[in-house]
Amino acid sequence: MERRRFLTTTALAGLPFVSRAEPVKGSYLTPDSPEYDVARGLFNSDLDMRPTYIARCRDGVEVAKAIRFAREEGLAVSVKSGGHCFIGSSMANGSLAIDLGVLSQRAYLPDSRKLVAGPGVKLGSLYDTLLPQGRLLPAGSCSGVGLGGLTLGGGYGLFARQWGLTCDHLTRVKMVGGRGREIDSEQDEDLLWACRGGGNGNFGAIISMEFNTRAAPKTFAAQRFLAKGLNSAKVGKLMEGWFGICEDLAEPLFSAFVLNGNQISILLTSSYPSSGKAFQATTKALLQLGLSTKGASNSPTAKALKRYYGRPDPLPFYNLSGGYYRSFDDLASSCDFVSQKVLSTPGLIFQVNTLGGAIARGPESAYPHRSYPFLGEIQAYWQRDSQRERLVAAVNAVQGEIGSAAHYRNYPDPTLKNWETAYYGESYPKLQELKQRYDPDDLFRHSQSVRPSAGAR
Ligand SMILES: Cc1cc2nc3c(=O)[nH]c(=O)nc-3n(C[C@H](O)[C@H](O)[C@H](O)COP(=O)(O)OP(=O)(O)OC[C@H]3O[C@@H](n4cnc5c(N)ncnc54)[C@H](O)[C@@H]3O)c2cc1C
Repeated sequence: MERRRFLTTTALAGLPFVSRAEPVKGSYLTPDSPEYDVARGLFNSDLDMRPTYIARCRDGVEVAKAIRFAREEGLAVSVKSGGHCFIGSSMANGSLAIDLGVLSQRAYLPDSRKLVAGPGVKLGSLYDTLLPQGRLLPAGSCSGVGLGGLTLGGGYGLFARQWGLTCDHLTRVKMVGGRGREIDSEQDEDLLWACRGGGNGNFGAIISMEFNTRAAPKTFAAQRFLAKGLNSAKVGKLMEGWFGICEDLAEPLFSAFVLNGNQISILLTSSYPSSGKAFQATTKALLQLGLSTKGASNSPTAKALKRYYGRPDPLPFYNLSGGYYRSFDDLASSCDFVSQKVLSTPGLIFQVNTLGGAIARGPESAYPHRSYPFLGEIQAYWQRDSQRERLVAAVNAVQGEIGSAAHYRNYPDPTLKNWETAYYGESYPKLQELKQRYDPDDLFRHSQSVRPSAGAR
């Protein structure tokens, strides 16, 4: 769509309210539709989600009609943008699923240096749009992840320590709420607060987003460090050493610690060339831990980011947030168990990513975990169904052993009992109040969606 038309029809222009129900049922996919099985497919191919209807909506008017229809049929509503939710909340069983994948228009506005985008934009196209303009929106790595879900739950990646989360760059959103009315954060600031980390499928369907962008670095540096021949004592020593080094990491740098099978791989990246002081000092410290490396690479940013785009096609997996940590102390008592479990379970991965930096100084928002400089992720991938049960049990065992109380909403864990406080901390009561304002009948509902306050309905 030509840019001007996109801006006036979907992004910034007011959307008309739908005043009467119209016959729409025939245009929605049902289990009998030939396209249903493809349309309900998510990136995690282990999921078997079965919504009652799938409504592929092209604008706010169609979203409002779908909501009205769901209300008449007595169905919950779920919303999908990029379909990367680990647990399938975007295609909830028995719901009317609003698929916004086609809302993938995006436009960079040079005068304001803002990006206006639909929630269905995938991260690969986001970078393809901004980098040729010399601009960047700090976001995640994998190219297929949807900007909608990523932003609404937070959104971190290689540049988050330097500039903050994706949701910290959000300046305006438009949402069709539970009563089918469009709400603009220009008129309701609380909506922006909620969508910065607390908006995944909770209140309505976000149909457009506007972001501040950053000047993209010309060069991006990366270096990998490896350790093999591991036992749990060695893993513990290396993990403690890595945490210690990363506690003082310079903000343009990011690091990830990945224990996978019998190997530790540590990634170090920077938005400055590897010859920079901070990168050199960190490299030296990592080598002193006894890690090996083939040296650093310095590439144009657009080319470098493609290395982390990941696999485009769906695959079966079971991944969870492994919790936020302040330092190695939070893992010290579980480190031996985690190491032994990963070393003895092929397909199981334990990863810790660095947060902190600018994230800690982010705007007032629903994202509650700004003070944690580290985030863990427990992952399992399999090729044969016969491996599934053992891997799922291993992930759950590691999670139980670590026992963190704080978790990343965008890495949901279906087994969490206290997910409300784990994901949203002290923001949860305000999110419940906003639920009452935007979706008082709790139409937008999935297994871990914000519930209306007790007695509010
Ligand atoms: C391979 C892979 C790589 C990842 N890498 C990163 C990473 O680098 N950094 C990071 O922070 N996260 C990462 N994630 C996690 C990712 O941020 C979440 O899975 C995110 O929620 C996906 O968004 P989506 O739009 O693709 O998914 P969807 O499944 O479409 O949606 C996810 C959630 O958001 C809600 N939602 C989606 N769109 C809307 C909307 N328009 N309005 C209201 N609610 C909506 C859905 O209802 C659902 O609850 C990764 C996930 C995967 C599978």
